Amino acid sequence: LRRDKPVLNALPKNDLASQALDHCIFPIIDAADVKRDGPVVIASGKGMTITDGSGVDYLDMISAYTRANSLGYGNEEIAKAVYDQLCKMHYAGTVSMVTEPMVQLAKSLSELRPDAGLSRAFFVSGGSEAVESAIKIAKQYQIGSGKKPHAYKIIARWSAYHGATAGAMALTDHLSVAQTPDPRMPGVSKIPNPTCYRNPFGMGDEEYAMFCADYLEQQIIHEGPELVAAFIGEPLMQANGAQVPSKAYWQRVREICDKYGVLLIIDEVICCFGRTGKWFAAEHFDVMPDITTMAKALSAGYAPIGAVLTRPDIADAIDHFRHVHTFSGHAGCAAAANAVIAIKQRERLIPKALENGVYFKAGLVEALGEMPAVGDIRGLGHWHAVDFTSNRKTKALPDPKMVKGIAEKMRSLGVLVGAAGTAIEVAPALIASHADFDRTVAAFKQAIESVSKDYDIA
Ligand code: PMP
Repeated sequence: LRRDKPVLNALPKNDLASQALDHCIFPIIDAADVKRDGPVVIASGKGMTITDGSGVDYLDMISAYTRANSLGYGNEEIAKAVYDQLCKMHYAGTVSMVTEPMVQLAKSLSELRPDAGLSRAFFVSGGSEAVESAIKIAKQYQIGSGKKPHAYKIIARWSAYHGATAGAMALTDHLSVAQTPDPRMPGVSKIPNPTCYRNPFGMGDEEYAMFCADYLEQQIIHEGPELVAAFIGEPLMQANGAQVPSKAYWQRVREICDKYGVLLIIDEVICCFGRTGKWFAAEHFDVMPDITTMAKALSAGYAPIGAVLTRPDIADAIDHFRHVHTFSGHAGCAAAANAVIAIKQRERLIPKALENGVYFKAGLVEALGEMPAVGDIRGLGHWHAVDFTSNRKTKALPDPKMVKGIAEKMRSLGVLVGAAGTAIEVAPALIASHADFDRTVAAFKQAIESVSKDYDIA
């Protein structure tokens, strides 16, 4: 049994979904839509499968929509590591006190990409806090080192997503979080980002990528190099689905940052810990950040934790870090992250994710590559996107209702994927099998065939 409609309508009035409507606030969605359809009650999960309140199973190919659940559901090894740590010492504050799992995690993170020299960690509770902390580290470094005593500006990119808190939101250009009308953190400007399939100037992919990189130099000059503290970017951008830039783009960005003493912050919140088949997606492009942020898959969704990593010379230039979060370095969260690292290393899940990505992409291209509504298929590791169009020749935008309809149809076939603008993303946990990928390709084909016939596709 598969169901298009969420479970609310099928359950009695006093069920969990109704109670949620009475007592919860829902993010990033029209209130009217939630009121009409109700939230889906998720009762349980095991491995790649989640089960809703009326017992219907779904194959979760989008890692709980946030792309955080990188080891699937019901992992007892992680749960036990957290339980044991909470019983022993759950939380020792954060100011000048440390716990064993926190220090172990800081050390492990610095060893995951030893060539980057990012051996100092600051812990937080999630991605937005990681970005807030990165901004403060960058500004305090520029001031504290005496290199740029008045630097306060940050350059970000069109369509970027860096979080929903005030500072991170100012760097964000994507999703409704960026559409609030109130004034933003001053000093932020945004430049074009390299997109894979469509770009606003109709240039070739590589020509546009280099144009975007060179734009950074012009923007730094325009803003005044002595005032620009940092540039921030996602290694693969999420807007319109898994945008994979070229190595040349990131190499040029690095060169420009070095030339003007601008710190390079690479925001790995969604990409880190195997999502793209590397511990850090920046490894694909041979680029070294000065500061990097991470969250989500860091704990595979088992505990709220994020981190910022930077080099010792940057950390040491800050004589007093004017920043604190109560749950920074929480011992139970650090225990979850340590267990996640151990499992991913032991099971060789990161290199396997890279191989799985090649397998999945080949399956997508073979099954969907010639379909009139499909414009582009791209991605790395366990993060792929199928980008839609209403005209393959002109790359005209698809009807957003068609994209949403295809994702909904896939849900009715029991496969959860995520609509992201003009594209649909697939980003399963690293434990997804070839059979899971095959089922997703088949559901994709069936959904596109059944939904796209109702739309004008040239
Ligand atoms: N940075 C990036 C690149 C992200 O993708 C996200 C979340 N999607 C964030 C920051 C914010 O993370 P959080 O939702 O955990 O605050």
